[in-house]
This record gives sequence, C-alpha cells and structure tokens, in this order.
Amino acid sequence: MGIFQPLELSTNLSPFNRCDRIQAVMKVRSIRGFKDILPDSIKRWHYIEDSAGNIFELYGFSEIRIPVVEFTDIFARSIGTSTDIVEKEMYSFTDRDGSSITLRPEGTAGVVRAYIENSLYAKSTISKLYYMGMMFRHERPQKGRYRGFYQIGAELFGTKDPYADSEIILMLWRFLEKIEVTSLIRLELSSLGDENCRPSYKQKLVKYLRPLKNELCENCQRRLEVNPLRILDCKEKKCKEISKDAPSMLDNLCDNCNKHLDHVKDSLENFSIKYILNPRIVRGLDYYTRTVFEIKTDELGAQNAVAAGGRYDGLVEELGGPPTPAVGFSIGMERLVLLHEKIVPVGFQKGVDAFIAFIGKDTKKTAFQFAYDFRKQGISVEMEYENKSLKTQLKKADKLGAKYAIIVGEEELARGKVKVRNMGSSSEEEINIDKVKQLSIKLSN
Ligand SMILES: [Zn+2]
Ligand SMILES: [Zn+2]
Repeated sequence: MGIFQPLELSTNLSPFNRCDRIQAVMKVRSIRGFKDILPDSIKRWHYIEDSAGNIFELYGFSEIRIPVVEFTDIFARSIGTSTDIVEKEMYSFTDRDGSSITLRPEGTAGVVRAYIENSLYAKSTISKLYYMGMMFRHERPQKGRYRGFYQIGAELFGTKDPYADSEIILMLWRFLEKIEVTSLIRLELSSLGDENCRPSYKQKLVKYLRPLKNELCENCQRRLEVNPLRILDCKEKKCKEISKDAPSMLDNLCDNCNKHLDHVKDSLENFSIKYILNPRIVRGLDYYTRTVFEIKTDELGAQNAVAAGGRYDGLVEELGGPPTPAVGFSIGMERLVLLHEKIVPVGFQKGVDAFIAFIGKDTKKTAFQFAYDFRKQGISVEMEYENKSLKTQLKKADKLGAKYAIIVGEEELARGKVKVRNMGSSSEEEINIDKVKQLSIKLSN
C-alpha cells in the first residue's frame, strides 16, 4: 500500500515531480531469482501438487506444514557447515532479538526439527510426512533454477528396513508416472555407506587425490580437506578427469551396506523400474547414509536434477532427538513443471462451465442471481460487470471455454424465458426461467 500512496497525493506536486513519482511506481519489480506463478499456469501446478498429495497419501503419508524460517543453527547442523548451501547460499538474518534466523534452503531440516520438537517419535514408531512449499537459496539464477523455488518432499522416519528405501523410491516413481514424465527422466542410484565403511573409504579417496591436489580446481583443493566426497560431483572438467579413476564407494561398502543396496536394487527390478548405478552421486548435503538417488533429465540443460533423496539415519539424533533412522526425497517443482509442459503442452488453462450474458434494461440483476445460484451448485460461471454487446459477451464466453452461454434478454425475460446457447454448436433454445436451475445437471457434465 505504502508505495502507491504518493501517487494519490501527487496532484499537488509539480508535473516534474509527478513524473518522478509515476516512474518510481512503475519501476516495481520482483527480486532477482524470484518469480510469480501466474493464473495461466497455476492449474498445472495444482494438478502436479494434487497428484503428489493423492499418491503420497496412498502410501500412508500425511502433510506437514513447517515454518519458512528456522534458527540458522538447525540448517548448519543438519545440512553440514562445509556444504555450498550453508557456506554461501543461505538467506540468513539477524532477528530483532539478536538471534540468527534463516529462510529455509530445503525442507528436511525443518521437518526433522518438527518431528523432534513435537515428539512425533513417541506417537508412533513410523512417521510418514510430506511437505510442499517455497525454499530459498542465493544461487546464480538460470533456466530451472531460482533463488525462491518450490519443493515437494517426503520423509519416512523410524526404520532401517531397506523396504522403506524401496517404498519411497517406488512412491516417487509412481507419482512421476502419474504425471507422465517418466520418458524424460532416469533414476540414478548409489550408496554412501555408513559409519562403518565410509570413514575408511574417505581416507582411501583422500590418499588417491592428495598427490593430484594442485591439479584440482580451487574449490576442490579446499574440499579435499573438509568434504572430499564432493570432489566426485564437481562440474569442472579437470576435476572430472582426475576423479575418473578414483576409488568408488560402491567397491568399498561393508557387508551390511552391500546387502541394503542389493535389496533396493532387487525391489526396483521386481517392479521393472530401470535405474543406473552412479557412484558419483554424493549429494550436496552431509546427512545421507547408505541409499542415495537422483532423478535426472537431459531436457533442461545444466539443471539436470529433478528430484533427489536418500537415507539419513543419523540426522534426528544429530539434532537432539532419539536415534531414528529415516529416508526421504525432495522434488524441484519448477523443473518438474518444465518437463510436464513438454509432455502436456496445453490443456491446463482456467475455464468456466457457463457464461451468463445479459442484454437490455433490468437484466443484470437476474443474470447476477443466476450466477450466484449456479456457483452455489458447484458450477463455475462468469459474467460481465458492465453492459456490453452480446457479441462481445459471447466472445468472452468463448475465450473462457464456456460450454454454454445463458443469455438473459429484456424481451425474453418479460415472457419469463432465457436463451441457452450451446457454445460448441451455436444452437440456441429458449427455456422457462424456473428451469434454469435444472440446467446445472447439463452444465456439470
Ligand atoms: Zn573441482
Ligand atoms: Zn557400511
């Protein structure tokens, strides 16, 4: 409101000042990396979100809504202090009481915090939660990558059973199948081992990379000391070259981790879900153990990860809860929407069932009453506010995709009738005004 006030007051200002004011008002713009989702694409968003919710609920998941901000510490401790997200991408602020708070860069940390704080572990052994909402990361904006972006995610708490890993991947895949994008994506799978086998693998990796340190990119030289696994997914050509022959986590898993991975692989094969083993999946976050997976695409350029997830058995305890194994994933909505547009380019525009046109004197009130009655019965209708020609009104009815137009004319109304026009065939019939309500059956089909 504030910004528009000067314009209203500006009549007393000199013309020059007025121009300045108008310009200042016209210049409003969104923050770089943040975008609006406009009504002409929202139907598609609703469709994807509803499909996710419906399918996740079939698997026993319930929605959880968590705050957009948390104490910075929650993210630093869960995502890991030496990750890109925590090091340079978080929107952190000092709150008025001096505490450091952060706009959530991902959903898992907040869900885990809520799980602990609300003692959900005490209410049932297994908790299955999903969330949808906006996340914030200060990255360089690109196609499919924004600073304010939406994710859908799911987390399953309370079991180490590999069936849980399988179930969560199957659920994700089922959802992607439902919205018909599986021809554009692939599933990549790996294991990051556990506290038994990962430390010794890390040592092996560092031992292999240390003599080559000077050939690594600047980032990876630093990563070698703090987070060597990340070197495996560095996008720099020279780092890719060097790490090509590095020891693989998959060759260094302990027996239990191997069994766990085999189980997940078997169950994917049982359900004919194709996957690629990719030992370079290390994820940008520190909290994963054992199973990790990514859904990738070749359709969106550099931003090729559509969804990702894995097992994180230590995180709940790390954040102060009881030891609770967990597995989950998150999906990038913007990228999923781009893929969905490729498969289903049209058919998600907002439309109405019927349009109510009025012409002549004293017809608007009746038209307005009809509109109210139809909407009350669950029929979507639209009408004009101002008197317009019938031609203009029918054009609008067409544009809105109305199947029928109900035309309230002065002369017909005097005879207790209205016209109903089938917008597809252009045929018209007159009906008694008291029959209009019964039209709703026809309109809802
Ligand atoms: Zn590198
Ligand atoms: Zn292991």
